[in-house]
Amino acid sequence: MNLQEYQSRNLFEAYDIPVPAGAVASSSPEAREIAQQLGGSGWVVKAQVHAGGRGKAGGVKLVKSLDELTRVVDEMLGMRIRTPQTGAEGLPVNQVLVAELTEIGSELYLSALVDRASCSITFMASAAGGVDIEEVAATEPEKIFTVSVHPAAGLQPWQCRKVGFGLGLDGQQIRQLTAMMQQLYRLIVEKDLSLVEVNPLAITGAGNLIALDAKVNVDDNALFRHPDLAAMRDESQEDERELEASRHGLNYVTLDGNIACMVNGAGLAMATMDIIKLHGGVPANFLDVGGGATAQRVTEAFKLILSDDKVKSILVNIFGGIVRCDVIAKGIIAAMKEVECNVPVVVRLEGTNVEKGRKLLEESGFALTIASDLTDAATRVVAAAA
Ligand code: GDP
Ligand code: MG
Repeated sequence: MNLQEYQSRNLFEAYDIPVPAGAVASSSPEAREIAQQLGGSGWVVKAQVHAGGRGKAGGVKLVKSLDELTRVVDEMLGMRIRTPQTGAEGLPVNQVLVAELTEIGSELYLSALVDRASCSITFMASAAGGVDIEEVAATEPEKIFTVSVHPAAGLQPWQCRKVGFGLGLDGQQIRQLTAMMQQLYRLIVEKDLSLVEVNPLAITGAGNLIALDAKVNVDDNALFRHPDLAAMRDESQEDERELEASRHGLNYVTLDGNIACMVNGAGLAMATMDIIKLHGGVPANFLDVGGGATAQRVTEAFKLILSDDKVKSILVNIFGGIVRCDVIAKGIIAAMKEVECNVPVVVRLEGTNVEKGRKLLEESGFALTIASDLTDAATRVVAAAA
């Protein structure tokens, strides 16, 4: 689960990681009040969306007066921010962060994440931080260096100094960096985060380190033990269909193609997407209805699939291991009765009670194509979409 920047900043503050003073607002009068309380004659206004790259997309603005602030906040609230991380529709801006201006000497990059390759928490750092970090990673990866933390030993001060030297920091800054990295490490471990990113980690005009941006990703599987973090969920930033799916206990991910898949089991769902691709099609989604799929769940899954108007054909691929094929067939029929399905549906059933299931489908009166095996199913569903 992603947090908004202002929520991540609050965590930073609670862990004594320096951030510019600021607060979140959902209207321009509120923003004005925050600016007046902060004082000074300039502020930064930042759109709160679950995506990076806001700076380049008009989501970060420096303002020089209260009137300009009001105008910028009114413009930002209600707009949608589109960045390479959001997809074409972008994400809605319902809140803005208003913060004091920081005079920036240079912009560094610092992050820590659960790195599967080294089976440890790994810090990544670069002196080439700021809005072009993705480009740096792609074209000059040698400018980014990493240190992995031994899970038993924890983050060692020498590792922080190594990062500091790599960033070209002076003695005072290395002390600040060491404190910051130790706190980030505590944060990631104690709050079960999968990622914490500070970009830019700014060196101020006075030469001090400050976290100018804050990005936190929480491990969903650990949310049950962090009710405070779970409460920070912002559903306005989530894909509508994925949200609806999670309400029904379905594992659903929106993809770019036009062939919808409904499958039981994550492994089979992956294999189904592979075979669609193999036969020249592109999946519209990943959908695992689960091992214990009921007729009700299948109906919900169908509704979900059909709410996406990119979908040109549907492949139902069920292996009846725990779940019985006749139950699935009943679910499909119930769904067809309930929702208006105007795209071709190809069904591949195999396993427990498969004969019963196929018979139910054949006798249902709905125009379903019953495939003999997986290859047959993939060929037919790709043809149907084309
Ligand atoms: P992102 O583009 O979504 O990562 O948003 P950031 O919060 O990282 O802001 C983008 C850029 O805006 C930063 O890299 C800075 O160059 C600039 N910026 C953000 N806050 C300030 C500030 O207080 N003062 C100045 N001068 N620039 C800022
Ligand atoms: Mg940033």
